[in-house]
Amino acid sequence: MRSVAVLVCLSVLFLVGCASTGTGTQSTTRETFNQTPIDGYIPCAAIQRRTQPITCLVLHHTATALPSAMQTLQGKTSSHRVGIHYLVSDEPKPRVFRMAHECFATSHAGKSQWKDYNGLNQYSVGIEIVNLDGNVHAYPPAQIAAIIRLCQDIIRRNNINPVNVVAHSDIAVGRKVDPGSLFPWAQLAAAGVGAWPDASEVSRCTQLYQRGLPTTAQIKLMLKTYGYGFDDNSDANLKLAIEAFQRHFRGRKADGVIDVETIAILAALNSKYNGVNPPTPNLATSPAVKK
Ligand SMILES: [Zn+2]
Repeated sequence: MRSVAVLVCLSVLFLVGCASTGTGTQSTTRETFNQTPIDGYIPCAAIQRRTQPITCLVLHHTATALPSAMQTLQGKTSSHRVGIHYLVSDEPKPRVFRMAHECFATSHAGKSQWKDYNGLNQYSVGIEIVNLDGNVHAYPPAQIAAIIRLCQDIIRRNNINPVNVVAHSDIAVGRKVDPGSLFPWAQLAAAGVGAWPDASEVSRCTQLYQRGLPTTAQIKLMLKTYGYGFDDNSDANLKLAIEAFQRHFRGRKADGVIDVETIAILAALNSKYNGVNPPTPNLATSPAVKK
């Protein structure tokens, strides 16, 4: 059955590729793939047979301008074979390019982990967003609008859990920093794309942890419960995981330093999405005791 499915995918890929006349950088034609307006089809060679169901959506920034990103993401460079399902440009009227059918896995995540998923290529759909560095350059509103439309469609069709809409930096802790601290995750969540904590729960947890933070062991468990994969034998790795978390949920200060606000956000997320009660404060770490 699997080989039949792959054959069907190949056929679809071929047919759509043929149907999208004039695709590529000069394309102005629009096709609609499910509910997603697609502006062009550029085939990516770095695809593999998908062996796992789609459970995650991974967002990236390209770190290069559009022409270079388009070239690289076609996956033809033997020393750096990367790929992606979708590429969103940074033009005044952003274009969405489809590069691989979702029924294939593509090489965009590298060594990665989220929850029990190891190697996210097989579990995910990937979107590359043109931005030289999302930790430095803001994402234009028109580009964000295009990303939201695309994500909404992918999430709806694949029934992706909000917690599993992740940054590359979430799933490759200490190795990747994209799409960066300026990526507007709160805005996406307000449009039904990805997770975000409830303000009232963050406020409640802030009050709780002003009395004292949870223990380091509890904080590691909180991060892992939410999804972060890291070797918890070292404090340096914990700092990197905290930094990745902050980059997603508190981008204005992603320094890897554990503080009340960060832990309150993490607790509120686990409470909302995992049904886990916030751990009790460790009074030995309270600011009053520390000083
Ligand atoms: Zn990336």
